[in-house]
Amino acid sequence: MAKTQTHTAPEIQTATVRVNSWQNLRRVQILPDQVGLQVTVPRCSHCVTCQSRVRQFESTLGRKPDALHQWKYLDDGAQWLFLPRRNEQNPLETLRQTLEIRIERY
Ligand SMILES: [Zn+2]
Repeated sequence: MAKTQTHTAPEIQTATVRVNSWQNLRRVQILPDQVGLQVTVPRCSHCVTCQSRVRQFESTLGRKPDALHQWKYLDDGAQWLFLPRRNEQNPLETLRQTLEIRIERY
C-alpha cells in the first residue's frame, strides 16, 4: 500500500571533530535523543587502524554493561557508534565520558 512520504525526520546536527591523536578527523551526529561518532574512516572500515578503533570502543563499553550503545553503518560507508543523549549534557561530553576519549570540535 502506498504511503505519502512526510519528511518529519528529526533535525540532525553534524560537527567535525578530532579524536585523541587520530590522524583523520571524524564526524559527529547530534540527534534529539542520540549522539553518534563516526568510528571508522568512510569506505575504509576494514583496515587495521579502523578495526583497532572499533575494538578500542568495544573494549571500553565491555567494561560498562550499563552503557547503552548501537553500532550502525551509515551511507557514508563508515561504521558509527551511537549513544543515548543525557539530559542537559553536552553531547560531546557524553562521548568523552562514555568512550574515554579526547574529543574536540575541529
Ligand atoms: Zn581504515
